[in-house]
Amino acid sequence: MTRAEMTARGWECCDIILVTGDAYVDHPSFGTAIIGRWLEYLGYRVGIIAQPDPKDVESFRVLGRPALCWGVTAGNLDSQLMKYTAMRKMRSDDAYTPGGKAGPRPVNASIVYTSCVRHAYKGVPVILGGVEASLRRFAYYDFWSDAVRRSLLVDAKADLIVYGMGEHALAEVAHRLRLGEALTNIRGTAEMRKTLEGITDVHELPSYEEVAPPTAEGKLAFSRMTRDIDNLTNPDLSTVLAQRHGERYLLVHPPAAPLSTAELDVIYALPFTRHPHPVYRQAIPAYEMIKDSITTHRGCYSGCSFCALGTHQGTAISSRSADNVLAEIVRLTHDPDFHGTVSDLGGPTANMYGTGCTLGRARCSGKSCLFPTLCANLRTDHGPLLSLMRAASAVPGVKHLFITSGIRCDLALSPGGKGYIEELVSSHVGGRLKIAPEHISARVLRAMRKYPPEVYRQFLAHFRSCTTRTGRPYQVVEYFISGHPGSTLADMIELAIYLRRERIAPEQVQDFYPTPLTLATAMFYTGLDPFTEKPIYVARTDR
Ligand code: SF4
Repeated sequence: MTRAEMTARGWECCDIILVTGDAYVDHPSFGTAIIGRWLEYLGYRVGIIAQPDPKDVESFRVLGRPALCWGVTAGNLDSQLMKYTAMRKMRSDDAYTPGGKAGPRPVNASIVYTSCVRHAYKGVPVILGGVEASLRRFAYYDFWSDAVRRSLLVDAKADLIVYGMGEHALAEVAHRLRLGEALTNIRGTAEMRKTLEGITDVHELPSYEEVAPPTAEGKLAFSRMTRDIDNLTNPDLSTVLAQRHGERYLLVHPPAAPLSTAELDVIYALPFTRHPHPVYRQAIPAYEMIKDSITTHRGCYSGCSFCALGTHQGTAISSRSADNVLAEIVRLTHDPDFHGTVSDLGGPTANMYGTGCTLGRARCSGKSCLFPTLCANLRTDHGPLLSLMRAASAVPGVKHLFITSGIRCDLALSPGGKGYIEELVSSHVGGRLKIAPEHISARVLRAMRKYPPEVYRQFLAHFRSCTTRTGRPYQVVEYFISGHPGSTLADMIELAIYLRRERIAPEQVQDFYPTPLTLATAMFYTGLDPFTEKPIYVARTDR
């Protein structure tokens, strides 16, 4: 992060400089840390410029000119989401900033930072990555301006977007830049081209000009674009998705292959300090929350309409080996700041570790592996996870091990989940189990592509019988979403009656937030179900 650190390493320049909207925390829960350590492992000299001041070009010159490229990211989350609430009110806090105060991260950070690095040094390639660029790679609905915008690649005027989990694609990009080769036809990337010539397996999406008008035709085209993206974004396919923007084409190459267990093990064994850079004097709230948590796997095959996790991380589960996870816990216990509690052992969904498609697929076109019912080809065995939980609890120095990542109730209740809820209750709930039924109305849950309310009730009954049996009076904290497409006033009244009957004072009801590239956002904008093209009710105004 500093010239002094470069000098100490004997570097005259960096090969790649990552510019990020988050404070720099060298912990594997932070995207910039993972990418930085990964590139370092591959032999590149990596600099990090965290939360630079867009008004001061010198803050982009602190490490000099990068020899190969800039890697620009808004940070762990979308910069608009970090700046505004679902009611479009400015937030006063930012969990990824020292002291937790909003301020240093600009809105549309990918665009702003790209312009700044271009200004700082001319002629250096700019590669965009992270959640913001990943989910805005196609033409997208922008809730904050209530308009369809062009792909971020066009608006930021960057050279390439690396989307999804970027290790494979970025390794290829850096390798080609070192050899002076063109950055074309790389899996897991989006690029601009003048023609579609020479591309054999291509699917042309409705153009930006077709999906942008806020008319019935424009919205239908947007809905079809969303459906096609969902159906065809699959690492098992070789289909390139093309979308005309004016005179040029946006080409989105197929996703990079999910990382294997061996590759994940290499990444999570890299020498992360697990701490914020020593330059920071104030606590970083997001770090305080996850510092003692352990990631066991990546990916999610739930396919919930409102969620971008599977879209970003992929729908195939990549699990670390048990030995690799345990070795990280041993390292954690040697940290003087560790006090004996592993705060989480999980991933996008805690109980997907070691599960997945028995046919070896990443996904089937447009299908969730869990909705409307569990697919017969899904391996749901929780045995590897249970063994891992027990082994992790037995690591010397670990007094408590909690599971705070989300749990899929239907998976836990499946035959493969036998013993999981009992194990959770006996040792891994820190007083309250946080769970996200999201809604209680069957109609809304269908629009969300989630299991019906009976499954959640069954889970609750099982959980409560376990707490009674073990004499542990744990509470359940439920999370709900209001205003999801498909949710009418009658559905919200049904939810209110449920809460009253069950004497629940919910900790949090999140109003639906239409973030780019989710199916629910397409429903919100178009008022159509992207798969059936039937109208769907949307509570669109603030009132
Ligand atoms: S076959 Fe079933 S488990 Fe496999 S990817 Fe398709 S839906 Fe998922």
